[in-house]
Amino acid sequence: MGRISTFLLLLQTPILLLLCVSAADDDEAIVSRFQEYLRIDTVQPKPDYYKAVDFLNSQAQSLSLESQTIELVKGKPLLLLKWPGSDPSLPAFLLNSHTDVVPFEDSKWTHHPLHAHIDPHGNIYARGSQDMKCVGMQYLEAIRKLQASGFKPIRSVYLSFVPDEEIGGHDGVEKFVQSQLFKSLNIAVVLDEGLTSPSESYRVFYGERSPWWLVIKAKGPPGHGAKLYDNSAMENLLKTIESIRRFRAAQFDLLKAGGIGEGDVVSVNINFLKAGTPSPTGFVMNLQPSEAEAGFDIRIPPNYDSEALERRLVEEWAPAGRNMSFEQFKQKFSGKQVVTATDDSNPWWSLLENAVKEAGGRTSKPEIFPASTDARYFRQAGLLAFGFSPISNTPGLLHDHNEYLGKDVYLKGIDVYVSIIKAYASYESKSGSRDEL
Ligand SMILES: [Zn+2]
Repeated sequence: MGRISTFLLLLQTPILLLLCVSAADDDEAIVSRFQEYLRIDTVQPKPDYYKAVDFLNSQAQSLSLESQTIELVKGKPLLLLKWPGSDPSLPAFLLNSHTDVVPFEDSKWTHHPLHAHIDPHGNIYARGSQDMKCVGMQYLEAIRKLQASGFKPIRSVYLSFVPDEEIGGHDGVEKFVQSQLFKSLNIAVVLDEGLTSPSESYRVFYGERSPWWLVIKAKGPPGHGAKLYDNSAMENLLKTIESIRRFRAAQFDLLKAGGIGEGDVVSVNINFLKAGTPSPTGFVMNLQPSEAEAGFDIRIPPNYDSEALERRLVEEWAPAGRNMSFEQFKQKFSGKQVVTATDDSNPWWSLLENAVKEAGGRTSKPEIFPASTDARYFRQAGLLAFGFSPISNTPGLLHDHNEYLGKDVYLKGIDVYVSIIKAYASYESKSGSRDEL
């Protein structure tokens, strides 16, 4: 090694050291801001939305973002932030996240779900660590990094922090997309939550299954418990259950055969059974009841022939001729069955895919989301929407005990958003809104 390079090395060492130290400092501050958000009790059914909005607003202030709090329903604030782009004529894009989380049984957790404890492996345990306070904070941290690097958006970036997703989003995004304010934002594409991935690649969702909640009731003549006769309520209901279970098994077989995702098949689960004649000691044992019912949670993929399923319901599952009836609590296809294109016709898709790649990540084949998220309201309103949570190599613990997220996975996710936001905010084409696709 020559004298000059030795000299340069000596000169660089403290600078490198300084850079490393400051990066570690940054990471620590980033993680502690995430912990702070996780510790705010936004657990349904009594989420402290105001505290969450106050905290997020303080973050927004530190980033000089424009901010407004909207109460479409009293007591349920929705925070809307804006990082204005230099060309207001271009449609904006929206980064959405919900502030509420589902309840927990703290006795079943190794660490309290509101403490955001970090274990020796660097895993942060908290309700919302995967679903989806991580994503909400990652958006903000990504903007912080972009600002520090001197990046200026051409297209405006909106961030919405919405209430009530976990209880159906009716007082949150459903009302938000119908508001004049929302229409005035001129948004082309939305990013919303996805699911964790157990492998190296990230999952992306372009549509959702529709929920169809059914209660099927059977009636029949009551009779002595010792008598064999046809058409009792129980016998009728069991025939239905057997038939539905055969349908369920066929769908499950398709899934087990591989090559398709969870969201590509119809799922059916019996979630309650109600029958019997109560007695002081439990149920009357020597009486066949005159009524019996079962409740089913069915989820239908967007491309599935729903009319065929409806015929099956009327002819096979709840035929009036067998004294059967049904009630529907969530009508399938209550809205338009829309999916977001994931091919060359949609520039936002290739921008997303490439941006993830540039950040050193990989997206797997786009999927239909097996359950429901707020993204369905955006799609029904005519917007393009992707479900995406940059969580790889992590077991899916959404709504489960011991939900956690690794510190490194969280930090890497911020860099993924840096890359996506940069790509979206720099995209200059005026095309790319849903109406043109
Ligand atoms: Zn969620």
